[in-house]
Amino acid sequence: MSLSSIVSPVPVALNTRRLSEHLYRKEFGEVAAAAHPLGARLMAAGCGKGAGSFFSLVPMASAFRLERATFVASARRYNGLSPADLPHSHHCGNRGERQLGQPDFTHLYNCPCLGGNTRPHDSVKNTLAHAIHQCGLVSALPKTEVQMDRVGCDTWHADIMLVDDASGTSYVIDVAIVNIDSATALQRRGDFGDVEASLVQAEAEKRALPIPQRVIQEENNSVVFVPFVMSSAGGFGPAARAFLKVLYRTARARAKWVMATGQPALERAWNTTFASTYWDMRLSVACTAASAEVVSRLVARDINMGMVTHRLRRQPWGDPNFSVYGVREGGASGG
Ligand SMILES: [Zn+2]
Repeated sequence: MSLSSIVSPVPVALNTRRLSEHLYRKEFGEVAAAAHPLGARLMAAGCGKGAGSFFSLVPMASAFRLERATFVASARRYNGLSPADLPHSHHCGNRGERQLGQPDFTHLYNCPCLGGNTRPHDSVKNTLAHAIHQCGLVSALPKTEVQMDRVGCDTWHADIMLVDDASGTSYVIDVAIVNIDSATALQRRGDFGDVEASLVQAEAEKRALPIPQRVIQEENNSVVFVPFVMSSAGGFGPAARAFLKVLYRTARARAKWVMATGQPALERAWNTTFASTYWDMRLSVACTAASAEVVSRLVARDINMGMVTHRLRRQPWGDPNFSVYGVREGGASGG
């Protein structure tokens, strides 16, 4: 009798990975059900494709190197923790000063001050433009903020617009980021489907805009509208996932798949060898780190503005051009 006939494995329907996935999912569901609504939403968001990629950054490329404060703010948001000690005195631009505590500290992650909304959006938009170019969908970097006019509609600007070099298909792309920890988001329930539903809803809102709607209804064969929606945890919505699939298929077909040979201009790390691993990570981090960088600056500004000072000793003058020795407008006798 040969050895192999004794030890040859009996084919069974379960393997250890599949079994552990089932157990993991069960346990995960139990923890999520018992969690605070914010916690449950963050757990769900963390399961999204691409979410939390910053945890696996290998700092071998400049785009994958984060300031310590940016990494800490990214990690704290991902885990549902406040970026500052609570209570926190927040200076919210023209909206004035407010005290943030446990129930509302997530405002810091959603505050529009210092570019809190625009910087993550633009970071994703511009990174996506480079992804499209580097993966070979177009031979030149696509334009962003492209003007679109349709009869009967107000002028609208697509975040990115391009025509595929080979197929002639046009893509109209609009980027959006859904803050899953915003005050309004937290009023909803917090289970799994809810986060994906928020992304789908954001896609629907983009599709309902007058010009995108026109594009979808009337030009469906030659023009594709892509609502590229991401969660603030760095995960991709369904339409974004579908577009990235097209992009990576293109990269394979046009010899752009292996980063070292296909996209040699890009600095990469050992865990971003292929177009998909590289660009999934770049886009996810473009979203989360751009927000975290703003948050850490916001917190620093709050701390600086909240310093307790001597009640009698004066503060610096407000006008940066003023000097105590300077010549005053209208003659030296003034002051
Ligand atoms: Zn604010």
